[in-house]
Amino acid sequence: TRTPVNVTVTGAAGQIGYALLFRIASGQLLGADVPVNLRLLEIPQGLKAAEGVAMELDDCAFPLLRGITITDQAATAFDGANVALLVGARPRTAGMERGDLLQANGGIFGPQGKAINEHAADDIKVLVVGNPANTNALIAQRNAPDVPAERFTAMTRLDHNRAVAQLAKKTGATVGDIKKVTIWGNHSATQYPDIFHAEIAGKNAAELINDQAWLESDFIPTVAKRGAAIIEVRGASSAASAANAAIDHVYTWVNGTAEGDWTSMGIVSDGSYGVPEGLISSFPVTTKDGKFEIVQGLEISDFSRARIDASVGELVEERDAVAGLGLI
Ligand code: NDP
Repeated sequence: TRTPVNVTVTGAAGQIGYALLFRIASGQLLGADVPVNLRLLEIPQGLKAAEGVAMELDDCAFPLLRGITITDQAATAFDGANVALLVGARPRTAGMERGDLLQANGGIFGPQGKAINEHAADDIKVLVVGNPANTNALIAQRNAPDVPAERFTAMTRLDHNRAVAQLAKKTGATVGDIKKVTIWGNHSATQYPDIFHAEIAGKNAAELINDQAWLESDFIPTVAKRGAAIIEVRGASSAASAANAAIDHVYTWVNGTAEGDWTSMGIVSDGSYGVPEGLISSFPVTTKDGKFEIVQGLEISDFSRARIDASVGELVEERDAVAGLGLI
C-alpha cells in the first residue's frame, strides 16, 4: 500500500474548490491507485463552508481519501504538502487599481510562499490558479528561496483546453486529434494562443485552416476572452472548467505528456524564446517523470513574436509593480 500524498487546496470553500475537491478525492488528480490526504486552507470566514464541503466528501466514501484537515493556518495547511493548489485569491472589485490588487494578493501569496518554504515536503509541486495567477506564482516562488523555482507553476491549461476546443469546433476534428497547441505569456487577455505548430490529425493546423481573418478576429479573442463570455452567459464565473484544467495540469506534470504532443504551463523562464529569465510565463512544455522541459527550436513568425512580446511585456510590468511594492 502506498503512503497517501498530501494535497493542499487554498480557497477550498470557493466555487472552484467545490468543483475540484471531489475529483482530487476520487483519484483524478494523481491516479486511480494513489491515496490522498486533503488539507483545506481557508480564511476564517470560509472555515464553516469548508466544514460543509468536508462533510460531503465524507459522504462520498471515496476509497482513496485518507484524511481531511481544515485550517486557517498556512503552516498547518502546507505541513508535509506534496502538491499545493493555490486557488484562493483576492478578486479585483469595481474601482480597484492594479496596485491595490497586487498588494492584496501579495498579502496572501507572500506568506503562503514562506509557509511552503518552511513546511512543505521536499518534492512539493505548486500550481497557482488564483488571479493574477502568473504574478501570484512569482510572489510565492520568490518567498520560497529554498524550494527549486521550477516547482512553482501558474495555470494556463484552461486557455490551452479552450484553444483545443475552438480548433475542434472550427474543423470538425475531435479534440483527441488536436496536438501541439501553445499558450504563450500571461493568463490574461494578452495571452497568445498559437496554432502555427499545432496539428490536426497530423496536418499543420494553421495551413489546414488557412484563414488569417478567423485567426485574428475570432480564434485569438474567443480564447483570450472566454472567461468574460462565460460570466455573461452563465451569470457566474467558470468554475468546473477551471477545476478540470487544474486537474489536467497536475496530472500531466506528474504522469507525463503523450508522445508527439505537448501542453502549456506557466513556469519560471530560463530565457527561452526571449522571455526574460525569472518571469513566470506560459510556454509549450513536455513532461516526464514529474519534470518538465520547454519545447525548444520552434520557429516564431513576426506575427507570433509581436503577440508573445506584448503578453510578456505585461508580465514585466506586473513583476516591476510587485517589486516596487516590496512583495518580491
Ligand atoms: P473562485 O473559486 O471562483 O475563484 C478562485 C480564484 O481562481 C480567483 O482568483 C479566480 O480569479 C481564479 N480563477 C482562475 N481561473 C479562473 C477561471 N477560469 N474561472 C474562474 N476563476 C478563475 O472564487 P470564490 O470567490 O468562489 O472562492 C474563493 C475562495 O477563496 C473563498 O472561499 C475565499 O474565502 C477563499 N480565499 C482563501 C484564501 C486563503 O486560503 N488564504 C485567500 C483568499 C481567498 P478571478 O477573480 O480573476 O476570476
